[in-house]
Amino acid sequence: MQGLRQDIMPLSRRDMLRTSVAAALTVTGSTVYAADPPLAAFLPAPPVSQFKVGDFTVTKVLDVDGIRLPASDAVPKEYFTNNLDWLAPQHYDARAHYILLSIHVYVIQTRDKIIVVDPGLGDNKARVVAGHQEFNRQGGPWLYNFANAGFKPDNVNAVVSTHLHGDHIGYNTVLKDGRWIPTFPNARYYLSKIDAEAMGQPNKSGGYSQDFVESIKPVIDAGRAELVAGEVTIAEGVNLVPIPGHTPGHYSVHITSKGKRAIFTGDLWHSPLEIMYPRMPSLDRDPVPAQEARIKFFDEYADKDVLIVPAHHNHPSIGHIVKVPGRGRMFRMLG
Ligand SMILES: [Zn+2]
Repeated sequence: MQGLRQDIMPLSRRDMLRTSVAAALTVTGSTVYAADPPLAAFLPAPPVSQFKVGDFTVTKVLDVDGIRLPASDAVPKEYFTNNLDWLAPQHYDARAHYILLSIHVYVIQTRDKIIVVDPGLGDNKARVVAGHQEFNRQGGPWLYNFANAGFKPDNVNAVVSTHLHGDHIGYNTVLKDGRWIPTFPNARYYLSKIDAEAMGQPNKSGGYSQDFVESIKPVIDAGRAELVAGEVTIAEGVNLVPIPGHTPGHYSVHITSKGKRAIFTGDLWHSPLEIMYPRMPSLDRDPVPAQEARIKFFDEYADKDVLIVPAHHNHPSIGHIVKVPGRGRMFRMLG
């Protein structure tokens, strides 16, 4: 996700209740009648869920879900309405014409390593989003969810960010006694050299981005950063593979165990609808390379026995890219 836009808002429980009630009944004077056909209610994601890839265990730890984005006017509405069967209600709010997204963090457990992938928004981070103060200096539940899943920050061996946008680096650091320090004190933090060097350039006024100051520089200063370029193996069965597009230094994370494969795709795309329409506008600063990267990836992995693990699919998040006769590419969701 390219930062947070002012039109992002979390779906509150009151919104959910209002949506489901409005779908069922409309009251006019004393007349009660059915409005549009009832829509299935949006189901919030569980705080923690798990799946296996061979001998590896992957735990999805929720940061924020039900993030609502008004669908772009540049995308024909039929793209959505023709695909309600696999998008609604979890990935598309048909009544409001909103895309629904999630921010979550994956924790990979290999035989002897614990690896955190894309560590979320973070607590106490400056996120100035007009009209949505809740994202600014948030004290989110992620660290509690992480602990409730049985993890301890001290035991994490590696932290990987597919790229360095704010929603993928937030829990790199925590605020302690007025200083930003690494959340995972014993981990190596794998950062794209291309993206880190771009982010580390001073701006016109000689300062640095808040994300760099709060989430990247403290890790480098603590000697925990590994700036990587090209393909890198960080543990047995865990490889970082460049997939430039959404950012020039964007990575994917490939894992292999006992013949089973999964790929963590970061922000190669955001909504699952982009799998069917890879050229539809998304949250990319530079759309053309991002679209080309999507198309290349979908060509390569459609109908393959490779589990796809995206960063922003609302629950259910993971699954397979499949070609469906008469419809095109879709995402078969597993959980
Ligand atoms: Zn993102």
